[in-house]
Amino acid sequence: MSEPRAYQLTPIGTLSSPFKQKFAIPRQPSLVNAQGTVAFEPEFNDPNCWREISTYSHLWLLFLFHENLDQGWTPTVRAPRLGGNSRLGVFASRSTFRPNGIGMSAVRNLGVEHINGKIKLHVSGIDLLDGTPIIDVKPYLAYSDSIVDAKATLLDQHPLPARHVEFTPAATRQLLQQPHEDLRALIVQCLGQDPRPAYRQRENNDARTYRVIFYDRDIHWQVKNATVVVTAIEQLPD
Ligand code: SAM
Repeated sequence: MSEPRAYQLTPIGTLSSPFKQKFAIPRQPSLVNAQGTVAFEPEFNDPNCWREISTYSHLWLLFLFHENLDQGWTPTVRAPRLGGNSRLGVFASRSTFRPNGIGMSAVRNLGVEHINGKIKLHVSGIDLLDGTPIIDVKPYLAYSDSIVDAKATLLDQHPLPARHVEFTPAATRQLLQQPHEDLRALIVQCLGQDPRPAYRQRENNDARTYRVIFYDRDIHWQVKNATVVVTAIEQLPD
């Protein structure tokens, strides 16, 4: 078999998202009601490209795991959902370390805005890092994309972790003093899925303080008595 021909692809746009680091981003779309906006390269700001897009409730975003591209890939990967020890074939996983680094997420279409000759696509239910390059946008076609009898027999045996989330009085005050109205929901939904490494998720009392950045806020949290306790929500320096 001759060497495969290399193809070059150029992102059509870039997604902005509240998720400023990979840690604590939901593992898949629709798990958290996080909103994002795609801004497009000049040639895709032609309104004709987006004619009738509003007739679809959901869209596929195809993108590059750009923060992992220079780290290569391996034939098998540790699947966090399986506890982090057992390994799967990379093509039997949704790993972010892939031969071509391509990801795909079905997201809710919140609509296209035309502002000063530019197109902005608003979406929700994203599992993507701020700055993710978007390589294609396609309509989600329920009649063919949603396969009701599809199975994932191995993953189905490992439900996603779910934890109650509480805020200390200090964190509650800081929550009230910040401008992002969906920040509380983001914190409850993302930290409620216990983003700690799989081998730590078994610990219901974990003295470590974890930190995650949503928008411009640095959120400190711990796990005590099986509950995620948010201890601080600090504004990042400008
Ligand atoms: N739904 C997509 C798929 O199946 O191809 C993505 C699934 S992947 C497991 C979701 C994770 O990708 C997120 O939790 C985050 O840690 C990571 N991620 C999101 N955007 C990324 C980016 N631009 N570069 C690298 N990793 C990213």
